[in-house]
Amino acid sequence: MTDVSQLPRITVIGAGLAGSEAALAAAKLGVAVDLYEMRPTKMTPAHRSGNFAELVCSNSLGGQGDLQAKGLLQSEMRAVGSAVMHSADTARLPAGGALAVEREQFSAQITQAVREHPAITVYGEEVTHLPAGPLVIATGPLTSEALSQELAALTGQEQLAFYDAAAPVIAFESINMDIAFRAGRYEQEADYLNCPFDREQYDSFFAALETARSHTPHDWEKLEFFESCMPIEEIARRGKDTPRFGPMKPRGLTDPRTGRWPYAVAQLRQEDQEGRLWSLVGFQTGLKWGDQQTVVRLIPGLEAAEIVRYGVMHRNTYLNAPQVLSADMQLKMRPGAFVAGVLAGTEGYLESAATGWLAGTNAAQVALGLPTIVPPAESMLGGLTRYLASANPKNYQPMNVNWALVPELPPEINEKTGKPRKLGKREKRPVLYQRGLHAFVDWAKDAGVPVQQPPACQPCRCK
Ligand SMILES: Cc1cc2nc3c(=O)[nH]c(=O)nc-3n(C[C@H](O)[C@H](O)[C@H](O)COP(=O)(O)OP(=O)(O)OC[C@H]3O[C@@H](n4cnc5c(N)ncnc54)[C@H](O)[C@@H]3O)c2cc1C
Repeated sequence: MTDVSQLPRITVIGAGLAGSEAALAAAKLGVAVDLYEMRPTKMTPAHRSGNFAELVCSNSLGGQGDLQAKGLLQSEMRAVGSAVMHSADTARLPAGGALAVEREQFSAQITQAVREHPAITVYGEEVTHLPAGPLVIATGPLTSEALSQELAALTGQEQLAFYDAAAPVIAFESINMDIAFRAGRYEQEADYLNCPFDREQYDSFFAALETARSHTPHDWEKLEFFESCMPIEEIARRGKDTPRFGPMKPRGLTDPRTGRWPYAVAQLRQEDQEGRLWSLVGFQTGLKWGDQQTVVRLIPGLEAAEIVRYGVMHRNTYLNAPQVLSADMQLKMRPGAFVAGVLAGTEGYLESAATGWLAGTNAAQVALGLPTIVPPAESMLGGLTRYLASANPKNYQPMNVNWALVPELPPEINEKTGKPRKLGKREKRPVLYQRGLHAFVDWAKDAGVPVQQPPACQPCRCK
């Protein structure tokens, strides 16, 4: 029997979705883990129990299957024996296309797996200073005050955000470029996509914005807005023309189709290096998602917009990932310290668990004297971690997984015409799914990570 005291050790801070997965992934690789969780001694404003991996709001881990970006991430996690996915599969509830779970059973199982693991020692304490040695910091969106201060001192105050005032992010392929045009104000560099409104279009858009319903924040997260982060619905409340003189001002933006400045403009700024994700400038919003989609789709050029990340306004502690993290989830200013979950600039239960798995694996690699690893770009986890490390750091906002994070498929040539054939979503996504999962499994085997072989794809078009 292994003497745990002789194993290389790592520390994990936080036993939420990310920290629990990190601790179990590291322990599986043969390191001892000191896991610190402050609940129930010190509660966060959102958690209700002392259980690990508590789901603070919905009980869904996202859509399933080969048409869903979350579906690919779920399969990758299953392939490497994720504890969160195992628990989700055991505690699942019928929920159509989504992976919903019975929340008590889900977190009770994870708590038990962590507490009973012989190589994991749990300390019911708040961590206020970062310990030495290989480390995973996974303290989530409600990281305690003292540790937040420590992180701000380490990374720079301006790299740590305390609330998320995010605008919707749109997939480029869903933007109608026959209407939107590239331009910068007053002939500056054409870095923006501009959606031009005429008066009638603006009137319809404004009417929808005025009546759209907002998400009601919990009492503890009532936010005081800075002028620069005012939600678009709040700007609209100040008068019909206020958006047109604020974030929607058309001055200096000549529409090449009319040769004139439009009546109003919604601008989009590039979010990723490849230009596949664009966020609506000045459109931070707390509107309910259904209403948000209705309003966004009334913007000319965005009639079929695919919103890959909805706007939100809520309390959230997170790092400016592209400034401070490498794609292996390591803090640039503190080698050997890895960050995971929402604190690392992701969004969502599943994304938190998946980055927790990678951070835990890499902290174990460091403890074992091995190089750190990064999943391939074609996999959803590889796409996400590369995005974290390389996104636009200006106004960085946390990201969910989505198909724009993985490379496009090479164009398929139509045999009859010899021209490239544009694939529809339903044709393309299963291929991206198969390609991503196979690349992930091959990579994990090469990296020496224990894997379960996924079923072969029929027919296989992923190579
Ligand atoms: C109110 C709210 C609702 C959300 N709803 C959803 C949703 O419906 N669906 C979804 O996918 N995502 C949701 N999220 C976003 C996110 O997916 C979850 O917050 C998720 O739990 C994040 O996982 P995590 O591991 O990063 O953090 P958490 O699961 O919050 O885990 C962090 C852990 O660290 C502990 N901790 C904090 N500071 C310290 C310290 N100094 N020392 C020791 N322990 C510490 C905390 O007690 C906590 O257990 C929500 C977030 C919030 C805040």
